[in-house]
Amino acid sequence: MSAARRWLRRTALVAALGVALTTTPAFARAGGGGTYSGGSHGGGSSGGSHSGGGSFSSGGGGSSDGGALLVWLVFEQPAIGIPLLILIAGITIYQKSQQAGYSGRSVSRSEGNVYVEAPLRRPTALRLDALVASDPDFSVPLFMDMARLVYTRTQEESQDLARLAAWLSTGARTAVERANGQEQVSSVCIGSSQLTRFQTLGEWDRLVVRYETNLCRTNKAGKTLQYARVEEWSFGRKVGATSLGPERMQELRCPNCGNPSETRANGTCTRCDTVINDGRLQWIVREIEIVSSEIVPRMAMSLGGGVEPGTQMPTQPDVDLGVNLRKLSAMQTDFAVTSFRDRVMATFVKVQAAWSAGRKEDLRPLESDFLYQQHRYWLERYAAEGVRNLSSGVKIRTVDFAKVTIDGYVVAVTVRIFASMYDWTEDRTGQVVGGSKTEARVFSEYWTFVRSVRARPVGTVPGAPQSCPSCGAGLDRVSEAGVCGYCEAKITSGTFDWILNDIQQDEAWRG
Ligand SMILES: [Zn+2]
Ligand SMILES: [Zn+2]
Repeated sequence: MSAARRWLRRTALVAALGVALTTTPAFARAGGGGTYSGGSHGGGSSGGSHSGGGSFSSGGGGSSDGGALLVWLVFEQPAIGIPLLILIAGITIYQKSQQAGYSGRSVSRSEGNVYVEAPLRRPTALRLDALVASDPDFSVPLFMDMARLVYTRTQEESQDLARLAAWLSTGARTAVERANGQEQVSSVCIGSSQLTRFQTLGEWDRLVVRYETNLCRTNKAGKTLQYARVEEWSFGRKVGATSLGPERMQELRCPNCGNPSETRANGTCTRCDTVINDGRLQWIVREIEIVSSEIVPRMAMSLGGGVEPGTQMPTQPDVDLGVNLRKLSAMQTDFAVTSFRDRVMATFVKVQAAWSAGRKEDLRPLESDFLYQQHRYWLERYAAEGVRNLSSGVKIRTVDFAKVTIDGYVVAVTVRIFASMYDWTEDRTGQVVGGSKTEARVFSEYWTFVRSVRARPVGTVPGAPQSCPSCGAGLDRVSEAGVCGYCEAKITSGTFDWILNDIQQDEAWRG
């Protein structure tokens, strides 16, 4: 699994090049087991790159070609490329360090890998107090479920966005249409998605989500290219609106009547005629900025193990952790720190084993829809590339509690897991093409588990779940949609039991 992490760091590297060459104010950072960027390609990355983002207007195609050349140099001629990269990154960091508020990062080379190291200062947690004051049931996990779903569906249906008129402003639709051209998007993988800003501007509340994603686009000639994208989507809702429950957030239903079917092109519900896209009842995407878009022609892997950057950063528990842990124990009587920690460790081991074996069906009952889609995407990419990412000797060193949130709908518990394992990728002949079989990787990640506030106590289940939390049958018939084949209940939304909802790299965690 952490081979995907290494690609993340490469994506960050390429993003850093983008920064160096175009002086955009954003310093991109991947996180969360998803995006990657590939290796050699001599100059093909200008087509379609950087479309839509105002901050790239000064750079244009020329800087994109420069970026491609530099990426090619780094991966194919590292003796020239890496010193050049470090020089450019150094200049960028110097320039950035002159700007107020820059958190500071450094680039180093270790174990043959080029890393963009963790920020010296952790990104500050987003304060949503003002929003929660007017909307006490506001739920970050549910909002993010909605934001990811809107993103995925928008990309997949970008040929016909009228169907999503209830969720996208005209400006947002235009931005996506321009970015994707006339090309069909065939697969979307959200590597990381983070809430980065909250503002109240006039009559609108505004939440900004930063996505770092991979998507495949097929052009008219039938050629499919893979893109690494960084996008910032601005969601707006009228001040004073209140949050909807999980069934309307997680499935993009009409906020008034719950109708799950499509809306009209003018943004009204086909069943109750309610105007959905005016921000009175539900969030709508008002603006989209494509921060960067790079072609990634193939998987690029690096050899070696070692300690990943960010692992040494201290865990800074949320200020309300103690209070919320006590609240949770009182509210859900089956919750206890020790048994939850056992559950986390068992889930961690099971997820690594399922990943290593390429068994997506074993991942399905453990993960939220978004996380499962991300992992499935990766397993399919491995298979398509003819490689396997394997691990052994998985050891968990510690599990720290980092944050507990309880909102009107969802309990979310985030733990930081410190672990080590041998993690390598081999090709069909068994040759190691990435990672290391002999040197362990040491890393930490933030894992977030969610459960409905209304979940009935399920008792302290030692180990990872072995049976359906709704009917008790085996987990051998869970569909791709997370529905138990015995009782027809959707078991991957946290309605019944804890579900793994998100994985973030330590350097990306905001608290
Ligand atoms: Zn309706
Ligand atoms: Zn069941």
